[in-house]
Amino acid sequence: MQAIKELYKTGRGPSSSHTLAPERACRLFTSVFGEFPYYEAELFGSLSLTGKGHFTDQIIRDTLPGTTEVIFSLDWEESFPNGFYLRAYDENHELQHRWTVFSIGGGSIQIREYPLNWNDEVYHEKNFKEIRRLIDEKGITLLDYVYSHEPDLKAYLSDIIDAMIACVDRGISTEGTLPGRLHMNRTAHQLYAQSTESLLENNDLRLMAYAFAAGEENAAGGACVTAPTLGACGVMTALVYYCAKDRNMDRSRLCDALAVGGVFGNLIKQNATISGAVGGCQAEVGTAVSMAAASAAYLMGQDIDQIEYAAEIAMEHNLGLTCDPVMGYVMIPCIERNAMGVLRAFDAATLSRYMSRVRKHLVSFDMVVETMKQTGIQIPIELRETAEGGLAREYLHEQ
Ligand code: SF4
Repeated sequence: MQAIKELYKTGRGPSSSHTLAPERACRLFTSVFGEFPYYEAELFGSLSLTGKGHFTDQIIRDTLPGTTEVIFSLDWEESFPNGFYLRAYDENHELQHRWTVFSIGGGSIQIREYPLNWNDEVYHEKNFKEIRRLIDEKGITLLDYVYSHEPDLKAYLSDIIDAMIACVDRGISTEGTLPGRLHMNRTAHQLYAQSTESLLENNDLRLMAYAFAAGEENAAGGACVTAPTLGACGVMTALVYYCAKDRNMDRSRLCDALAVGGVFGNLIKQNATISGAVGGCQAEVGTAVSMAAASAAYLMGQDIDQIEYAAEIAMEHNLGLTCDPVMGYVMIPCIERNAMGVLRAFDAATLSRYMSRVRKHLVSFDMVVETMKQTGIQIPIELRETAEGGLAREYLHEQ
């Protein structure tokens, strides 16, 4: 598994695969080859089909230092469904450098012509069963295991928590319309206001308001945290904000909760996918709910078996979730889905706590991750971040 630090990253929305990944690739391209007067970015797969709605062309033009042509190619030969060719030209329009960039989910990239050490494995264990065996043999906790591999992770996660809190603070205090042709109004501030009006504390509404705040910030191109992706950023961000602000949990414990959730997100990333273009929304919001369920179970004081069970329940009941963003914007169904997701994470943690007293669970986390991977392969391409099926298609028919 890669570093958990590579899972949680701050970046501008609305999509880790469609804005953060291209931005990182363009910055790296410039740092490796220097500046050129002309560039060409030829998008293929999901990037070409939903790149407009995700503002991919805008972020590429903003990041590259020269005049940039962005081509939305509808005819490609790559088998991986999300990426782009990046080319640099001199003043005579002669091709100087060329990269093939694959956006593999959560803002992570692979470059055919330039292997990256960001993708190096930090953890040698391949699945939860191997992690569990190791920590049992050594008599250590899951957190001991994580921090022994990434000694500076806790300080890094504290900065991530600051970024999450700032994101929600902006989201619940900003009004107006989100960018794009859907002309959707921001609503997080109204949801939050209603949650404070209630005489009885309304935890669910408040959690959803925080998820909306993060989702709307993301849709507006604000700085958010991949957890594991920007489209799914609202789930973990809402959980962290709620625990920090409404429950006054201490920072160190929240960092530990993110580390625990990160193990499960990382295992899904390694053994299945966190890319909506590859596995549908089960890979994005499904993974976020699984991570948040593990974090919530940890914060509730559950043991390692119960934490695994919470992560497993959460993923199991998101299996088959498709990705069909209306007009290609990360708004419908994405923002509401994040709000539902954070509630489902707490539900999964509650169920794991009480069900584990009744019987041993029969489906392991590793089993459900493999199921998610296989299910993703069977989801048609129209329902994997291409905006060609599902709600995206129905919405256009109704217009
Ligand atoms: S439907 Fe899910 S996977 Fe697709 S863009 Fe929205 S949040 Fe991302």
